[in-house]
Amino acid sequence: MDVIFDIGGTKIKYIVVDEKDQIIAERTEPSQQKNPLFLIKEVLLEAKSQYNIKKVYYSVAGQVWNNKVINSPNLGQLDNVNLRDFTHKILNDKAVEVKAANDANCFALGSYFVVSSSIPHLLNSYLVGIVWGTGVGSGIIINKKALEGKNGTAGELGHIKLNHHYKCGCGKTGCLEGAIGGKNLEKRLGIDAKNLIEQHLRLFENETLNWLSQGLEKIIHLLNPAVITFGGSIGENLPERYVEKLINKTQQLLSFNIDFPRIIPVNTQTAVIKGCKHYEKL
Ligand SMILES: [Zn+2]
Repeated sequence: MDVIFDIGGTKIKYIVVDEKDQIIAERTEPSQQKNPLFLIKEVLLEAKSQYNIKKVYYSVAGQVWNNKVINSPNLGQLDNVNLRDFTHKILNDKAVEVKAANDANCFALGSYFVVSSSIPHLLNSYLVGIVWGTGVGSGIIINKKALEGKNGTAGELGHIKLNHHYKCGCGKTGCLEGAIGGKNLEKRLGIDAKNLIEQHLRLFENETLNWLSQGLEKIIHLLNPAVITFGGSIGENLPERYVEKLINKTQQLLSFNIDFPRIIPVNTQTAVIKGCKHYEKL
């Protein structure tokens, strides 16, 4: 069995899968109530008592480099923790394979495997995966590998600067995430997060289309990707009419007649499981 931890700013999901990626067990806990390291320890020991664990994967909302969390803005207790060493210590077993990576990179890589079977020419092209939920993250996939950059921060689409004054969770103003991220909209507008996600596109359609198209324009000019996938609580549910409007708006911003990438919403959990299991960095 393999254990996958999907560690986000608001919740930690724990999934046990078999060799065929079938889900054997899953559980979700809020990530802010107790130290996530205690929760991970608890889950690992419980899983060890029930299953023969071969691999443990971590998909972490934050900067991860060589299995070490460098910086996780919403989960400070994980900073500077090497999740491979931590897992080996808890399980008292160094034979267990451990991999930790940034959550948007895991999603992007997994979404590559989800969509690649129906898009054969994707093999030698670029894919960008965007996770749009409480925040905005992204990963760049080249030749079936996640582009991590010098030390793990490549593909931070959420923090590219646009011409607005909304504050972002990172402390700066002008970020794409500051304009369209669920958490920032919730703070700005005082709407409860659950209602906000449901009403997000309906109430803020024109606003989010404007900002998001400006973000996509930058990606397309820079990378000329074949596919852009969307995950996250908002992204995976993008209605077709929204995608059509997004394409039109973005096309108007492009300077040349660029072959427009396919825009495909993908189930986040399916992609994260595949991404974790196939994770290879560029
Ligand atoms: Zn930011």
